[in-house]
Amino acid sequence: MKISDIKCHVLVADDFDPGLTSSAQDSLLVVISTDEGLRGFGESDLNPYIGRACIEAPGTHTMGLSMRELLIGMDPLDIETVWHRLYTMTAMNGRRGAGVHALGAVDMALWDIRAKVAGEPLWKLLGTPRQTPVVPYASLQPAGKTFETYRDAICKDAEKAKDLGFRAVKAECTMAGPYAHDGMNESYDRHTELVAAVRKTIGPDIVLMIDVQYLWRDADTAYSVARDWEEFDLYFLETPIWPDFLDEHAKLADLLSIPIASGEWLSTRWEFIELIERGKIGVIQPDIGRVGGLSEARAVCELAAERQLPVVPHCWKTGVSISATAHLAFTRPEIQYIEYLPPQLCVEKLRRELAKEDLQFVDGEIVPPTRPGLGIEINWDAVARYSEN
Ligand SMILES: [Mg+2]
Repeated sequence: MKISDIKCHVLVADDFDPGLTSSAQDSLLVVISTDEGLRGFGESDLNPYIGRACIEAPGTHTMGLSMRELLIGMDPLDIETVWHRLYTMTAMNGRRGAGVHALGAVDMALWDIRAKVAGEPLWKLLGTPRQTPVVPYASLQPAGKTFETYRDAICKDAEKAKDLGFRAVKAECTMAGPYAHDGMNESYDRHTELVAAVRKTIGPDIVLMIDVQYLWRDADTAYSVARDWEEFDLYFLETPIWPDFLDEHAKLADLLSIPIASGEWLSTRWEFIELIERGKIGVIQPDIGRVGGLSEARAVCELAAERQLPVVPHCWKTGVSISATAHLAFTRPEIQYIEYLPPQLCVEKLRRELAKEDLQFVDGEIVPPTRPGLGIEINWDAVARYSEN
């Protein structure tokens, strides 16, 4: 079997607003076709115009070849060879960051093909099935432009998630800093007030995670605020510090009793080794598309397992990436929770419309999917509706 074509769909929701934090307003959907008529689907969470260029740009020299040109004619089932050839021969186009994120979408599509050829749901090919259930957490994004509307919206969604049977919720608490929601700039006291309000809303029995999205640049400032959050029994504090400042991560990890979670933007296992060993983080958060696909996400899970650290993958995208994340979780017991929202709870059009996934949420757990491959059905009307040239 040979790869016969690669198509990159640049999708942007017609109501997108660049002032909002949600990256689910766009998508890079990669479709790989084979000479035997099979198609595999992959996705990555990066600016889709850039992702398309990473895959489709013509090659210009030996270490800056074209992913698309390299892929045509290769065996789609030999994923390891394809991954390393693409990673090596495009090294000067982007050995980290966008280049690897785009490679992640290619890798995801190849795993989809491999499982479809086997006639099995993807998780059965990724490793040994785990003995414990896959538990999702509800990821709650804010609405509103004032502290009161932001707080009330998050608390209302937390209540809704609890009623739906979620055992864990994550609240974005980002009213200042580089990732601030919709231009907000609230005090740290207000951030503390928000954490307290969410904990009060859900009660003591639901697991609570807080994401401050790179609010601080140093450990001392972070600790001066977050030490007051220790009383709220947080499962983790996500991305408190800008990801380049690994020594500050390590310092905060020593000071704070709440585990630090990070890793959503990283590409390749090599960046995770640095974050874990030098940054001393406590919860590992690869995003499958960005880290370099299912192949590289599996390698990161190995790193975590060797160190007995939990993995909670990042995933804020459409049913394509969410399916890939769930399939991986069914073979990796170190994955303690997956980020998941049923499409009906999402405002993002692409999340709701692009792909119908084979995932059911029952009694707080995800039921193992049964359809071959990723098990998704692409809504081609949505692809046509949101495609940009
Ligand atoms: Mg986050």
